[in-house]
Amino acid sequence: PLPVLAVVGRPNVGKSTLVNRIIGRREAVVEDKPGVTRDRVSYEAEWAGRRFKVVDTGGWEQDVLGIHASVAAQAEFAIDAADAVVMVVDTKVGATDTDDAVVKLLRRSGKPVVLCANKVDGPSQEAEAAYLWNLGIGEPYPVSAIHGRGTGDLLDAVLRVM
Ligand code: GDP
Ligand code: MG
Repeated sequence: PLPVLAVVGRPNVGKSTLVNRIIGRREAVVEDKPGVTRDRVSYEAEWAGRRFKVVDTGGWEQDVLGIHASVAAQAEFAIDAADAVVMVVDTKVGATDTDDAVVKLLRRSGKPVVLCANKVDGPSQEAEAAYLWNLGIGEPYPVSAIHGRGTGDLLDAVLRVM
């Protein structure tokens, strides 16, 4: 079976946009309003000659649990089933309590994780990404999923740990 890469993070940080970049197609549904990706959707991808599965998460945001608990719950399921995880954070917003909750789950899982500092659309925003070292899960990779900036370096880092 192919190794599985899970993409986790809060609603609207750009998980589905990143997944579309990774698979090179527009299949993961991107929406301005959160809550669009239903459950977990798996796609086949390839980078540097290696094939793997990438799992998009999201869509339980409307859950009765509230945003915080439902993000944590779905991240937990996805992390369990994954060989490696990309945690996506919106660099324009910074780290939130919900991001901290996901970090705790990642630590407990012991799974390898690569931190995607998304929405770094230009070089002037790269300094903001550096604040995400504070999450304590290693180097933040500055990425603009929407423009494709930095996604190659991110995937190289993923393949090193997966
Ligand atoms: P998800 O809820 O985490 O799956 O986020 P989506 O992929 O659906 O994206 C949410 C919103 O953020 C959409 O309006 C995207 O176009 C936007 N977005 C995603 N990536 C980027 C990025 O790199 N830069 C900017 N400026 N916007 C982005
Ligand atoms: Mg989504």
